[in-house]
Amino acid sequence: MDTIKENLATINARLVHAAKRAGRDPREIKLVAVSKKIGRDRIQAAIDCGQLSFGENYIQEARDKIPTLAKNLSWHFIGHLQSNKARFAAELFDVIETVDSLKLATALNKHLTDLRKNLSILIQINIGGEHQKSGVPPAEAEKLLRVINRLPMLQVTGLMAMPPFFSDPESVRPYFRQLRQTAEELTVKKLFGPYSRPELSMGMSGDFEVAIEEGATIIRIGTAIFGPRN
Ligand SMILES: *Cc1c(COP(=O)(O)O)cnc(C)c1O
Repeated sequence: MDTIKENLATINARLVHAAKRAGRDPREIKLVAVSKKIGRDRIQAAIDCGQLSFGENYIQEARDKIPTLAKNLSWHFIGHLQSNKARFAAELFDVIETVDSLKLATALNKHLTDLRKNLSILIQINIGGEHQKSGVPPAEAEKLLRVINRLPMLQVTGLMAMPPFFSDPESVRPYFRQLRQTAEELTVKKLFGPYSRPELSMGMSGDFEVAIEEGATIIRIGTAIFGPRN
């Protein structure tokens, strides 16, 4: 558990350093601790160190864990979400980062209406054009955003992406940059409503400093906080 404390301190220091290098305010970058496959004791250890935002990938796992933890946490759903699980996601999460279809958005909006709950969502972009990954191609983001913006319970606050994997983080930089440019184009068209500076969720354990240099406002870190998952 001490390593979780040390890891969080290291990540936060690297976050601040990367932000300063890029001339950014570190406070505009949110660290989401990715707790998929991590038991509640280790999540609690992170909470005890002051970490309050967490990311989960699997609905069943989230249903088992989230209700047993403190109520003041912010939970981000970052996995692939099927419309038939939208009700649980709408109930459990504060942000859903992986909306990539009108069908899913419509299902979320319906359950949120029943719950009388507004929800922030991000549109997941398939930035590398990889057919095995979820997300809409950058060129289709505008069309999707225009229809989702008509759904009253959803606020689209930005974009999320998982670029192709490279062992050298510098190789990921062009993808991060492309996500930022996509967000800028959509912002000019006023597609994020009142948000003139949309969220950019990009960067994981191996490449988050490059992501911060390219404008990330949310980084999603698992392994570098909790160690390897089995
Ligand atoms: C698992 C996961 C992460 C965290 O990855 P690490 O390399 O362990 O930091 C981030 N984003 C998504 C979408 C994930 O599924």
